Amino acid sequence: MAKLPILEFPDERLRTKAVPVETVDDEVRQLVDDMLETMYDARGIGLAATQVDVHRRVIVMDVSDERSSPLVLINPEFTPIGDEREPLQEGCLSIPEYYADVPRALRVHLKALDRDGQPYELEADGLLAHCIQHEHDHLEGILFVDYLSSLKRDRVLKKMQKRHKMLQDA
Ligand SMILES: [Zn+2]
Repeated sequence: MAKLPILEFPDERLRTKAVPVETVDDEVRQLVDDMLETMYDARGIGLAATQVDVHRRVIVMDVSDERSSPLVLINPEFTPIGDEREPLQEGCLSIPEYYADVPRALRVHLKALDRDGQPYELEADGLLAHCIQHEHDHLEGILFVDYLSSLKRDRVLKKMQKRHKMLQDA
């Protein structure tokens, strides 16, 4: 396994729309394993392939407290159940140290393939439902700051520019 570099906002590559995985082969499984290692190392609860500059529809997640329940979503599709929405505080490994409330569907029905290419379905609510929608957005080139006011987004942009300058100067 290998840790992968994570792209950070406002990197334009985060705006790439990912293409579906045709076959879940060893190369895809390697990607999944590397993404899981990268996510756990960064203490994230979800990571989309887009964030490691691989533009295929692959997501890994683990919303458990014990960090022991990895979930693999290949070619995920979800539909909201009902029209209840709730705001929940979100963060993103591509926008470190920034958090904001984002309203999303409270419950979703998910269809995806697992690490072995087997189809599965599940119903999610709360944090898992939010995480599915957040990560799915990445595959579409959407970031959670896109839902904020332009004033807030500008502030995030400035903060990130400062961070990248600091990292460069270090
Ligand atoms: Zn994210």
